[in-house]
Amino acid sequence: MVERHTEYPSLQEAQISSRMADESTFIAVKPDGVQRGLVGEIIKRFEQKGFKLVAMKFVQASEELLKEHYTDLKALPFYPGLVKYMNSGPVVAMVWEGLNVVKTGRVMLGETNPANSKPGTIRGDFCIEVGRNIIHGSDSVDSAKREIGLWFKPEEVVSYKSCAQSWIYE
Ligand code: UDP
Ligand code: MG
Repeated sequence: MVERHTEYPSLQEAQISSRMADESTFIAVKPDGVQRGLVGEIIKRFEQKGFKLVAMKFVQASEELLKEHYTDLKALPFYPGLVKYMNSGPVVAMVWEGLNVVKTGRVMLGETNPANSKPGTIRGDFCIEVGRNIIHGSDSVDSAKREIGLWFKPEEVVSYKSCAQSWIYE
């Protein structure tokens, strides 16, 4: 039997962490989601899927931060209303980590317009109008990096080993 040096991760553990370590997404429960008591439900869905929570804060976001967060949309007619909506109460800002978490996170959210979102998705199950669609999720790996940097200091994103890792990844 080959002896294993326990201070080094096994090949399987190393492969799991290299596949997982590469992706994080920024998820935020918007003010309507907070007011409607959907914070727990939303966190539950990401937890139960198997994604790993690595940062979270409950915060009243400034207008300045929100304008920057949605800067790509600033030419669009709904932009001022969007910033006002996002500034109308506290939000829960989070970073979730896992394999393909950006794309899968978007699938879990549903479409931007809840009317086009299938039942089983967060927007499909809990909201009706595009301007009150309860949750934000990064749309690409690059925007996730930008958004995480905007909402969190590097030391607020926690690195830890999940005991469920080898039960979630093969
Ligand atoms: N939004 C809106 N009216 C629109 C389109 C978007 O109020 O016609 C809001 C909505 O809250 C949406 C946000 O602007 O979530 C950002 O728009 P984006 O196209 O980035 O959609 P998302 O990435 O959130 O699905
Ligand atoms: Mg977007």
